[in-house]
Parts: sequence; structure tokens; C-alpha cells
Amino acid sequence: MRYHIWTIGCQMNVADSQRVAAGLERLGYTPVERAPQADVLVLNTCVVRQQPEDKVVGRLNQLKHFKERHPDRVLALMGCMVGIKDTGRLQERFPWVDLFLPPSDPTELWAYLAERGDLGEAQTLIADAESRRLALSRTDTILPPSSKATVVSTYLPVVLGCSHACTYCVIPYRRGAERSRPMAAVVAEARQMADQGVQEITLLGQIVDRYGYDLGAFAQADTTPLVTLLYAVHEIEGLQRLRFLTSHPNWMKDDLLRAVADLPKVCPHIEVPVQAGDDEVLTRMRRGYTVNDYRQMIARIRTIIPGVSIATDIIVGFPGETEAQFQNTYDLLEELRLDRAHIARYSARPLTLATRQFQDTLPHEEKEQRRRALDNLQSEILSDLNRRYMGQSVEVLVEGWHARKRRWFGRTLTDRLVFFSGDPDGDWLGRLARVEINWTGPWSLIGEVQPKPEAT
Ligand code: SAH
Repeated sequence: MRYHIWTIGCQMNVADSQRVAAGLERLGYTPVERAPQADVLVLNTCVVRQQPEDKVVGRLNQLKHFKERHPDRVLALMGCMVGIKDTGRLQERFPWVDLFLPPSDPTELWAYLAERGDLGEAQTLIADAESRRLALSRTDTILPPSSKATVVSTYLPVVLGCSHACTYCVIPYRRGAERSRPMAAVVAEARQMADQGVQEITLLGQIVDRYGYDLGAFAQADTTPLVTLLYAVHEIEGLQRLRFLTSHPNWMKDDLLRAVADLPKVCPHIEVPVQAGDDEVLTRMRRGYTVNDYRQMIARIRTIIPGVSIATDIIVGFPGETEAQFQNTYDLLEELRLDRAHIARYSARPLTLATRQFQDTLPHEEKEQRRRALDNLQSEILSDLNRRYMGQSVEVLVEGWHARKRRWFGRTLTDRLVFFSGDPDGDWLGRLARVEINWTGPWSLIGEVQPKPEAT
């Protein structure tokens, strides 16, 4: 029996898909490259913008014929398109889908498979009500055994859902209210990942720096709960690197920044979206900070964490964003010279406050022009910033062999993508390599690898 999982969207979806894969492999399914060959097909979906949603719908429509030809195959729709509540409308629209799974919760898939066949083990995958409320229904292996050898870096969800309700964002309506996973569960999972050969773990949350504030144990503590968690995961042997994302500016406390600076395994890399560089737009987005607050936070991060790299997210063309307001965002990026900006055109999402309160009147071309302007700016900034790496020797955690480029690749502590030449049969995977950089561009670096320690 074979399975195939198609995933789009954020890192959380990637993590959810890995968990589904691990569960399916425990039930005896094996992965298959091509979707039409699968007995169980899972589409893990994203609706944060119109574009991924359109892709999912396209995919679902293709699969209609597939299901007509193969009614015995299982087709499951998972993730943000399904959401946590009513799936009735989806059922009407896509009656050929067998089951609808909420984000981070594949429990019903195990139940469905158990009911269909003699999958005794499926019962043990069905989590109790408590852990189901929190998550991520349990499996013993977090990563599918078949991928064991290749997973160098992986994601570990620690905060599910989100309660902030930025006016543009559909996530709270899809992933539900914010809930942190108990620290013991997170640490146990991280340990299992390390046991499975994982070298780098990225802790995930929509607002990851809010981890633990909803857990009683931390209610009185002076320390930021995420700091306690970072220290605990840091202890795990075998793990080389630790990251966390995404942070919200309002929760970037000094003790968290100090932990990043102090803990050697925690990479000096912070993802903290600004979304807009104009106070009026920020207010209408309900972000909860001003441009100046953000500016000061960046200065604080740079002071406390030496050599830090900082990434941000920006939305262009929010309803009513004037040319002057966009210019403020442009100027802010130019001023702060951040290490990466993920730039998106605003897309009106059902139920969100922005959709209910404001008219999405900016033409697509105007949004695209703004996006391109910012993208050109950041490409200049990154070319410039990356030039500093020229001639330097950097530590790269090797994540794989790039078949087309015929080079090994991995990332620096500061999240720079690095390529280096070498024997494709060499055992670089999962190793920390020393690479001397001799070419730099905005999106990647290339260099010469230095001999492995054993070889010298
Ligand atoms: N909670 C995380 C992730 C949110 S989704 C965070 O705070 O970053 C990832 C990014 O998608 C957001 O940061 C935002 O820049 C973008 N995004 C969210 N909703 C959007 C919308 N309606 N239109 C365009 N971009 C959006």
C-alpha cells in the first residue's frame, strides 16, 4: 500500500505532513513519488492568500476524475482549507473527497483507515481527547522511517493556532485559538528527532515568542517561557542547531535575545515580521506596535545578539495603502537593511476584519509594482550584505546534494544558502562543513569546502 502527500504553505504544514507520513508508514504504507499511484492521497492545503487556494482547487478538480476511475483510493484534504469547524460546504463543493482533516490533526485519518481494513495499529495512533485538543495527534515516530537518512533539518510545532487576529490574516479562523504544547511533550519529541538523526530543529509557532504564556506552569515566572524551552531542548545530545520562528515584535523580550546570544546551538537568526512601515497601516492591520517600536526592537536585537541576521515579512497593497504609505515601508526597509524580506501582495481573505471593514480597491498591477520595487531594493541590499562573506570561512550544516547544480548545499548559522562542489557520493549529508566563500549573490553563496576534520 502506497501513500502520497502533496503539501503547500508554511513550515507548519510541512511539519504536519511529516507527521502524517510517519503515521502512515507505521501502518505499513510506503511513500510513492507520483500521486496517481497512491492508495492514500493527502492534500495538505494553505489558504493564507488567494494564490495557494487557487492551486488547491485546481488540484482537487483534477483529482475528481482520478477518484471516478479509482473509487477505492482514499483522498484526504487537510490543513487550512479545511479549518477547524464546519466542513459541510467543502463536502458539497468537493464530494469526491473522502475525508476532511483539520490542521495538525490527522486523528480521523487513522480512524478511517482502521475502519476500512484490518489496521489494528491504527487504534494506537488515535490520540485521547486531551492531546487531540492540543494537537498533533501522537505517533511514536515523528519522521517517517523512510526519510530517516535524509532529514537533517526539521520543524517542531510548539504553539498551535493563533489568537492575535491581525486584520488581514485568516489563520486564527483556520487553525483556531492559540495553544502551546506542554514543554515535556516538545522536549520528548525533540529528543526523538535527534535520535532519528536530525541535526537541526526549528521550533514553530504563528507567534512563537508567545510560547507557554497559556500554560499554567509559566504563569508566574519572570523568565520568558520560550527561553526555558530553548534551554531544555538545547541540552539534547546530537542536536547541532536550534532555531525558532515566527516572532512577533511585542514579545521579543531581552531575556529571549540573551538566550539566543548565550546558547551556542541557537542560531543567531530572528524572523520577526514588520508587515508595513507606516503607522496608520499598522494600526489598521492591528499589529500592536509602531514603526518606531519596530525600529527600536531591531536595534535591541542587533545589540544583544552579535552577528545576528534578521528576516521580516511585508504585505504590500493593504486596503487603502497610499503611495506615500508604501514609500514609508520602502524607506524603512532601506534604513534597516534586514537580511531577508518575504514580500506578499495583499489578498482579501474571507471572515477577516480587513475584508469586512475595508475595500480591497488597489489594482493588482499597482500591488505588483510595489512588490517588485521592494524586491529590487532587497536584492540590492542582499547583494551588498552578502559581499561581506567574500573570502570568509563559514560553518554550513549540509542539507543535501543539488542534482541540477551538481553541488552540495546547506545553510550558515545566519540562514544563508551556501553551495559547494564535492563528490556526490561523499558523506557530507548532515555534517557541519567549513566553506570558504568565493562567490556571493543576493540569494546564495558559493565556496570551496575545507577538508573534513578526519581527513586532515
Ligand atoms: N503568524 C506568522 C505567519 C503568518 S502567515 C507571522 O506572524 O508571520 C505568513 C505571512 O503571510 C504573514 O507574515 C504575512 O506577511 C502574509 N500574509 C498573511 N495574510 C495575508 C494576506 N491576507 N495577504 C497577503 N499576505 C498575507
